[in-house]
Order: sequence, then C-alpha cells, then structure tokens
Amino acid sequence: MITVTALTHRFGESIALDDVSLTIPDGEFCLLVGPNGSGKTTLVRHFNALLEPDAGSVAVDGVDVTDDPLAARRSIGMVFQQPRDQLVAATVGADVAFGPENLGLPREEIDRRVESALAAVELSGRADDHVDALSGGEQARVAIAGALAMAPSHLVLDEPFAGLDLRARRSLLDRLDALHDSGTSVVVVTHDLRDLHERADRIVVLAGGEIVADGPPAEVGALEPHGVDGGC
Ligand code: ADP
Ligand code: MG
Repeated sequence: MITVTALTHRFGESIALDDVSLTIPDGEFCLLVGPNGSGKTTLVRHFNALLEPDAGSVAVDGVDVTDDPLAARRSIGMVFQQPRDQLVAATVGADVAFGPENLGLPREEIDRRVESALAAVELSGRADDHVDALSGGEQARVAIAGALAMAPSHLVLDEPFAGLDLRARRSLLDRLDALHDSGTSVVVVTHDLRDLHERADRIVVLAGGEIVADGPPAEVGALEPHGVDGGC
C-alpha cells in the first residue's frame, strides 16, 4: 500500500503539490491523469523518496519512505518519464539484468526474468544490442523491461506509452493486465486514456497540484464530460 498524507512540494516560490492525500491499496490499477504541469511526476517521485516533502509524508507498506528509501525503491518499480536517464549498462541485456543482479538472485532466475521482461516490450533477441544505438522508443522499452524484471509489488510508470508503437503498446498493456491479475499494484501516469480507461480500477485527476477528482472510471468520466485528458 502506498499512503500519501498531506503532501506539499514547492519548487522555489511555486507550489507543485498542495496538501495531497492519497492511498493506493495493494493490487489496484490506478491511472494518474491531469494537465501538463499539474504535479503528476512530482507526486510519483515522492513514492520513491527521490524528492523530499516540504510538508506531509509518504509511506510504502507502512514505512515512511524518507526513513527507508531503499525499502521503498525495492517495493516500488518506477519507470521515469525520461527513460534514457534510467539506463545504467552498455547493452540491453546487461541493463535489464542490473536490478535483479543487485537483488542477489540466482543466475537462472535472472536470465528467466530478463527474457520475460524483454518479451513483454517486444525486444526479444535484442539482449546484445548497445543501448546507445537504440531509438528513443526502444530505450523507453528497455527502461520498462528493467522495472518489470524487478518484479516489484508496486509498478509506477510515468507516461510509458509516449514513444511506443502500436505493437509495443499492446504488448505492454498485456503485461500490465497479467501483473494486475497476479496482484501487483499498477499506477500509470498518462495523458492518453485510450485502452486504459476500461482497465483501471480508479482514476485520480490532478490539477494545479491538487486532487480534483478520484473514483472509478465511470464516475470520474461522468464528472468530466469532455474526458479527463487535459494535455500532457
Ligand atoms: P506533470 O508531470 O503533471 O506534467 P510536474 O510534476 O512535472 O507535472 O510539474 C509540476 C509543477 O512543478 C510544474 O509547474 C513544473 O513546472 C514544476 N516543476 C517540476 N519540476 C521542477 C523542477 N525541477 N524545478 C522547478 N520547477 C519544477
Ligand atoms: Mg510529468
């Protein structure tokens, strides 16, 4: 469970999150939407203690993320909006294996996870490719595979579909469905509700650093007659 309590974040004089409280129960498929600049990325970066609250707190499974950032990073897999920044190794396979290797898993288990994660993003057979030679969309898929290979109990993806073609998009959606079915919490930050609206248990809408709507897709859709797509 991810528990956000009265979280406020300022960048200088401007307030990016204003007293936000939100609980994401285990196993929920949650969409986080809202206009560009509404605070979505800032909010999810707090889940992993990548930012420090100006007020309020975030807890993962009851543990304050500021007290134990490493525990938060183990249980929440995060795919950032700028995936290139997330890649750490020279080749695709080494990059995806990096996280599981740090968990100290046996080699066969690492290989199995890498293979399965690469298949989920349509990169099977590309383990030896150099990450610097990949397109932006392919790099994004490697970053997603890296998070999948960690098999985290919560998976947070910030605009994961931005650079994906239709085939990779479908494949990732299938994998998110499978993870959701197996009890993983999935949080997708997106401006594009296509194919996601019907999958989600819940849609949380941010605007100006505040939650302005929160509920099942049918309800939130009804609150926002023109849809909840407010840009990127
Ligand atoms: P979203 O992901 O919804 O587009 P962000 O969380 O990235 O929104 O940004 C929320 C607000 O905080 C915006 O006004 C943005 O300009 C500002 N902001 C985000 N990151 C920084 C930063 N590193 N320095 C200064 N302002 C920032
Ligand atoms: Mg963002």
